[in-house]
Amino acid sequence: MDLHEYQSKFRFGEFGIPIPKGKVAATPEEAYDHARELGGKVVVKAQVLTGGRGKAGGVRLADSPDEARDIAQNILGMDIRGHAVRNVLIDPAADIRAELYLGVTTDRAERLPVMMCSSEGGVDIEEVAATMPEKIAREHIKPALGLRSYQVTNIAATVDLPRDHWRQFNQIAQALYRCYTESDATLAEINPLVITPVGLLAVDGKMSIDDNALWRQPELAEMRDISAEPEAETLAREAGLSYIKLDGKIGCMVNGAGLAMATMDMTKLFGSSPANFLDIGGGAQAETVAAALRIILKDPNVKTVLCNIFGGITRADEVAKGILQAVKEVGIEVPMVVRLVGTNEEEGRKLISESGLSNVISAQTLADAAQKAVQAAGEEA
Ligand code: GDP
Ligand code: MN
Repeated sequence: MDLHEYQSKFRFGEFGIPIPKGKVAATPEEAYDHARELGGKVVVKAQVLTGGRGKAGGVRLADSPDEARDIAQNILGMDIRGHAVRNVLIDPAADIRAELYLGVTTDRAERLPVMMCSSEGGVDIEEVAATMPEKIAREHIKPALGLRSYQVTNIAATVDLPRDHWRQFNQIAQALYRCYTESDATLAEINPLVITPVGLLAVDGKMSIDDNALWRQPELAEMRDISAEPEAETLAREAGLSYIKLDGKIGCMVNGAGLAMATMDMTKLFGSSPANFLDIGGGAQAETVAAALRIILKDPNVKTVLCNIFGGITRADEVAKGILQAVKEVGIEVPMVVRLVGTNEEEGRKLISESGLSNVISAQTLADAAQKAVQAAGEEA
């Protein structure tokens, strides 16, 4: 789960990282009030869960409260790479002399957190890594030892940070690492960390929290911006389903991630493509199946639903009941190909065939099911 810039920076602030004393506004009038309260120049910043806001015109300086209001008016409602702007952050403008990048992320290959820093701040770190890899300082951190001061010294020296900032840089690096670990983050990044006449300042912040740790980070879980995610993903999370929307026409409802991947491959093999990845999990009850079907049918691209269930823990008759329940509730206009095998498969098939649903097509094997689904979607088989 990603946090907004303002959420990340407020969190950084709690760990002692210097941040601008800004406030969030949802209307131009609020932006005016905040700017007046702060006094002087401010920067108006779109709060969206995507980078490159600066380039897209979502970060602009204002000389007066009136200008802040006009800019906020302009930025609120703007679309930045498919993300609608609902809030702006009003920060006092920083007097920027230089911009650095400083981040901690999880290096999966090394199985360790890694701190990265570059003198080329403000730019995407991926871009720096591709064009000037020598400009990035990296230090892997052993969790049992924590971030050692000599590592921070190495980083500061590598990026040629002026000596008079080293002490503060060490404090910020330590705080950022602490923030990363204590937040169960997979990424905590300051880009840019700027040098001002009065010291270092975290002007932009980004954090990604490990979804698997949200249960023990209730304060962070609270921060989820549901308005920024597709409705289907919210519904899926609430129903305990893993769902990822894709661009094809075949809505897939499968139990088990591996089987779901195989099913998606089969739709491709027969000339179409999957509309989603969806794993209803083991032991799915009728209620869960109904929720899954509702989510799949919300996607207008879906021309056929392909339901591929291997009954191990999940009982095929439970799934059949779920399908019938969902069809009764939401109605289903598109054809649906159902393959039920495993525990209680006869009962499951019987429930489906006796329901009298005309648009439900039964299939025996996965290949058979995929082929029928592709045909039903009106694509080449
Ligand atoms: P991003 O484009 O989404 O990464 O947004 P940032 O918050 O990083 O802002 C982009 C750029 O705007 C920064 O790299 C800075 O150059 C500039 N910027 C942001 N805040 C300020 C500020 O307070 N003062 C000045 N002068 N420039 C700023
Ligand atoms: Mn940035």
